[in-house]
Amino acid sequence: PVRTRFAPSPTGFLHLGGARTALYSWAFARHFGGTFVLRIEDTDVERSTPEAVQAILDGMEWLGLQHDEGPFYQMQRMDRYREVVAQMLAAGTAYHCYSSPEEVQAMRDKATAAGEKPRYDGTWRPEEGKTLPAIPEGRKPVVRFKNPLDGDVTWTDVVKGPITISNKELDDLVIARPDGTPTYNFCVAVDDWDMQITHVLRGDDHVNNTPRQINILRAIGADLPEYGHLPMILGSDGAKLSKRHGAVSVIDYADKGYLPEAMLNYLARLGWSHGNDELFSMEQFIEWFNLESLTASSAQFDFDKLAWVNNHWIKQADNGRLAELARKPLLAAGAVFDGAPELATVIGLLKDRSNTIVELADAAMLFFRAPQPDAALMAQHYTDAVKPAMADFAARIATVEWSKEAIAAMIKEVLAAHGLKMPQLAMPLRLMVAGQLQTPAIDAVLQLFGRETVAARLAARI
Ligand code: GLU
Repeated sequence: PVRTRFAPSPTGFLHLGGARTALYSWAFARHFGGTFVLRIEDTDVERSTPEAVQAILDGMEWLGLQHDEGPFYQMQRMDRYREVVAQMLAAGTAYHCYSSPEEVQAMRDKATAAGEKPRYDGTWRPEEGKTLPAIPEGRKPVVRFKNPLDGDVTWTDVVKGPITISNKELDDLVIARPDGTPTYNFCVAVDDWDMQITHVLRGDDHVNNTPRQINILRAIGADLPEYGHLPMILGSDGAKLSKRHGAVSVIDYADKGYLPEAMLNYLARLGWSHGNDELFSMEQFIEWFNLESLTASSAQFDFDKLAWVNNHWIKQADNGRLAELARKPLLAAGAVFDGAPELATVIGLLKDRSNTIVELADAAMLFFRAPQPDAALMAQHYTDAVKPAMADFAARIATVEWSKEAIAAMIKEVLAAHGLKMPQLAMPLRLMVAGQLQTPAIDAVLQLFGRETVAARLAARI
């Protein structure tokens, strides 16, 4: 059975790269009816915070990336790591090292001076027939992993293809510190083993950890998972995506008015493809998702394309749901809903041309505030030539059937009777009723405002 995991370190928010990794791991598990595990890698106590944990959980929930097991917290698994350290010491796959930090630094400097990779020189590594130095009094040892001295570590990365690292490149990793606390790569290996992870998808900043983790997994007798290292997400200038390019936290996109299904759709395509398909649901994605179609080259984050994808999903979304999302920004802008057209109906009129909920709320605002037409614009558009037509129009409001079609027909009659063109009447109408020149089609706008409101607003300005 397929078991995947998302294993963020809670040192900030859920960023776009992390969300994409989570999405692929989730979709792969779902595709095979497998299990998606959430694991919080919080052993860096200096940098991990409860707020960051919450931010990750919130981000995952907003996206709808539901985990089946967890969240597991590494800080709550310390006993288990100590147990495995003890087992490895007993089995001879790890050993106590009493070299002081200064001594280790000297070894590293020596290797560097000889033009080699800095490494621990194996002073305390037990070997057949080797006599170890006397244990320095009062010194607490670290535990080191007995990395194989020869041979290679090879794996076929599901994204990058075959990768081979010589064991000569890897020295004996510290797996437990003098106070007994386990170190990063060791915890990850033990967790992937205990949680029976079959496929590890993660950022390619972890590719150097993989040979170390593979060696540890082999030493403890674990089956190896498949590994896939996803390339970074870049900004439009080709540099690693950062705040400078725009928001990098997933939750910021919620606040900016993106729909979760749009974020998921966009992130899904950013590093994976299915022919020319750009717009698809998560159901469809789960059906299509495969490791073979992950792209090995890094993808550039394209804010315009994200806006286009978001517009697509806004058009698909239920008006009532969009209304609920738009209500908050509208209220913040001072919207008054009492006596105004129904918000969901307004949304229905405007959503086709909005790229975000924030844009949608901006566009909707004209229906929820008192119009205050600019005096200069009024003077420019409400000229003496238009006044008789406007009076005629106002007079017909009481009796016209209040449908978009009937209003449109009535406007045409007034234009014909007074020898005017559409904008000559529509512009001052917009100013008086909506307070601005930019609105959707005038017949639709008038119909939505309602007979009483239109009549009252015209009466106040004519
Ligand atoms: N904790 C790592 C991170 O924050 C991920 C480790 C892994 O996937 O193995 O990116």
